[in-house]
Amino acid sequence: MNMTDWTLEPHMREFELDDYLGAAARWCPSCGNHTVLKCLQKLCKELNLPPEKTVVVSGIGCSSRLPHHMGTYGFHSLHGRALPVASGIRARRPDLSIFVVTGDGDCCAIGAGHWLHALRYNMKMTVLLMDNNIYGLTKKQTSPTTPAHTRTNTHPNGAPLDPLNPLATAISMTNASFIAQCVDWLPEHLYHTLLRAHAHPGLSFIRIRQRCPHFMKGHLDDFMNDPQKLRLLTDARGVDPGSLTDTYPALAHDPTQFEQAMRIARENSPISLGLIYLNESAIRYDEFTQRGLITSEEEKIAAIEAELDKFAIV
Ligand code: SF4
Repeated sequence: MNMTDWTLEPHMREFELDDYLGAAARWCPSCGNHTVLKCLQKLCKELNLPPEKTVVVSGIGCSSRLPHHMGTYGFHSLHGRALPVASGIRARRPDLSIFVVTGDGDCCAIGAGHWLHALRYNMKMTVLLMDNNIYGLTKKQTSPTTPAHTRTNTHPNGAPLDPLNPLATAISMTNASFIAQCVDWLPEHLYHTLLRAHAHPGLSFIRIRQRCPHFMKGHLDDFMNDPQKLRLLTDARGVDPGSLTDTYPALAHDPTQFEQAMRIARENSPISLGLIYLNESAIRYDEFTQRGLITSEEEKIAAIEAELDKFAIV
């Protein structure tokens, strides 16, 4: 490097946590969304992700306000539409780190069609299902993951149906490649899950069991208060359990084994934490969309000029 040249190349920049802070979060105190936001900001800092090369896409709901609180690019889209927006971004910008935040209503009801096909397309992105088992923003309506008999504003006598299981649904989807689970009250594990998911080359889907102290007060207390009701999945390809093995029981689990992964996904208790399912040979649709994609600035300018030349008056 010429020592008189003070231009810093992007790869030489070092980012601080402050670089990833956006508007102050206004979620309820103790809402699980706060932990997810902090872990995502820490991940960006630890990986030194350039903020202008990072985008957080969301749908609608309490959790979908998250992009506003990040100092990166963000796209707060429409109900259930986070995944098609993120897929479009991925198709044209293979250079970006893409995170998708979506709630249980947003992902598993309104956006369910997009969810299943995004899993099948397996385009590189990290998808966080922030599952608090209720529609919070619209004031306690039954969501697809609300436990049966829970009294809600749409079902004052109790939700009549058993809930949808997001893990089993995701694992059963053709070409799904990475399905993990964590909880909002163990930030160390949540952070390690994000880290592992971000390293995955395809679509990584993380279900985060979350508290909504406003509308689902205490609904996860049993799991929070009894270490025997959580279980760490351990494997060299999985999520680093960190110091949690001192406190919580562990199960050696090969995530490439579909049947075992499905058995774990179907369990209501204990909550298994870590990488449940992994298919490293799944095809990535973004590898097709990137073929022939113009990426350099010179190529983009040349292509624009070639298009404009079509309208030249001769
Ligand atoms: Fe969080 Fe629930 Fe409050 Fe929404 S209503 S901000 S999900 S605690």
